[in-house]
Amino acid sequence: MNALISVSDKTGIVEFARALHELGIKLISTGGTAKLLADAKLPVTEVAQVTEFPEMLDGRVKTLHPKVHGGLLARRDMPEHMSALKAHGIDTIDLLVVNLYPFEATVAKPGCTLEDAIENIDIGGPAMVRSAAKNWKDVGVLTDASQYDAVLAELKSAGKLSDKTRFALSVAAFNRISNYDGAISDYLSSLQEDGSRSQFPAQANSRFVKLQDLRYGENSHQQAAWYRDLHPAPGSLVTAKQLQGKELSYNNIADADAAWECVKSFDECACVIVKHANPCGVAVGADALEAYAKAFKTDSTSAFGGIIAFNREVDLAAAQAVSKQFVEVLMAPSFSPEAIELFKSKVNVRVLQLALPPGGNTAWDNGRNAIDIKRVGSGLLMQTADNHELALADLKIVTKKQPTQQELQDLLFAWKVAKYVKSNAIVFCKGGMTIGVGAGQMSRVDSARIASIKAHNAGLDMKGTVVASDAFFPFRDGLDVVIDAGATCVIQPGGSMRDDEVIAAADERGVAMVFSGVRHFRH
Ligand code: 5GP
Repeated sequence: MNALISVSDKTGIVEFARALHELGIKLISTGGTAKLLADAKLPVTEVAQVTEFPEMLDGRVKTLHPKVHGGLLARRDMPEHMSALKAHGIDTIDLLVVNLYPFEATVAKPGCTLEDAIENIDIGGPAMVRSAAKNWKDVGVLTDASQYDAVLAELKSAGKLSDKTRFALSVAAFNRISNYDGAISDYLSSLQEDGSRSQFPAQANSRFVKLQDLRYGENSHQQAAWYRDLHPAPGSLVTAKQLQGKELSYNNIADADAAWECVKSFDECACVIVKHANPCGVAVGADALEAYAKAFKTDSTSAFGGIIAFNREVDLAAAQAVSKQFVEVLMAPSFSPEAIELFKSKVNVRVLQLALPPGGNTAWDNGRNAIDIKRVGSGLLMQTADNHELALADLKIVTKKQPTQQELQDLLFAWKVAKYVKSNAIVFCKGGMTIGVGAGQMSRVDSARIASIKAHNAGLDMKGTVVASDAFFPFRDGLDVVIDAGATCVIQPGGSMRDDEVIAAADERGVAMVFSGVRHFRH
């Protein structure tokens, strides 16, 4: 058996090649790899000896030769192929080990020049990988160091690779080539005339890897599957580990994402309860128990069957409180052993553990996956993620009445929550908890009414509450509704044609109002 080894990332290659050699497999290799193997005292034949042609053009041409591709592509079950090899003095290559020039890593480096990028486009490597992968019935192809151990184990035990293994390796190889070419195409189509790179390439080759098939989609007559980005952002939902419970459903996943994105935006200990993609209770507290108790109070009716997310460890006390309600999904960065024990008796509860993103809860995308994608007909809409963070210093007080310190804190809290509520969003808050949430209405005034009704139904006192509105009040009517309900302070973006009228209304009614200067539509 002959193996051709040509790797850029040389991790583990000497050990792997040694093991192949010990199995009696002949080693053929390209310049740098061959030198490394020879230095490790392994018998290795240089590709240049096989092709009887030197590596040339700074390595641009090394393995692009019929003696290599003939050896990879010949069908062993076709006598014509085998006699053609013989006639041209070509040996079969039965195992190919290649990893490619590091194009993705090169272009990820700040300041990468077009020249650097171009030099890191591997030509001969992908060509060999494609030849071997096409001829998977006869050739095993390895494209990643993570495959070495399993392949070695099979070669040692069975003396050869099974059809199943070679096919799986071939699929992995074509996936690798597709990702590699996609990265090249993404990079080149993102280049602008001045040499800078657009976040929105002319051709978007966003690539996704299937995590699992789902039982059904949003409704039972729809089929569905869950995918992750090829390079997921740290701290995103796809990095979650399910500790127990039934399989996640399509709606569970969508709601869990909404809950997680919201809860991880808080630095303080927070709890978010989501139903139908909207937060129905959000609170911060001294500990997980307090945060949960406050969040639950907002709308205990909607919280039934909700998705509950924490940004702190769930301890026994919080677990006991949560387990009194019907919960679909529970998520947190960690769970105490007692909490885990308690949920074992609630076999249906899906418990997800997922790390907060490194660099702090509010280090949003950590520079990656910062693009939101929405499907429209046969197209896509792409935008940068809504990762705007409002600071106290950004607030512009526009009324005669000034907010109190407590109101300012509550305004920032309410604003953060409103960002995660579907538009039109009106959110009443007080003391670090939501008091009433009005979501997803076509008219802002209706959202205001709904939020008031919900707070009233929950028996919560709306006097002295603050209100966040995700977009400006186009008329004073919405403002009047929230003031009638008891709000004393309002935050909204401002920017309406009738700002003067709305500010005058706030002054007339003696409430404080601040402008955020940003809008948080969410649809
Ligand atoms: P080495 O370090 O062994 O000299 O080179 C290994 C790298 O060369 C691998 O990443 C492999 O994919 C790549 N390679 C192999 N053959 C060719 C070729 O003909 N042209 C180019 N551009 N790269 C090749």
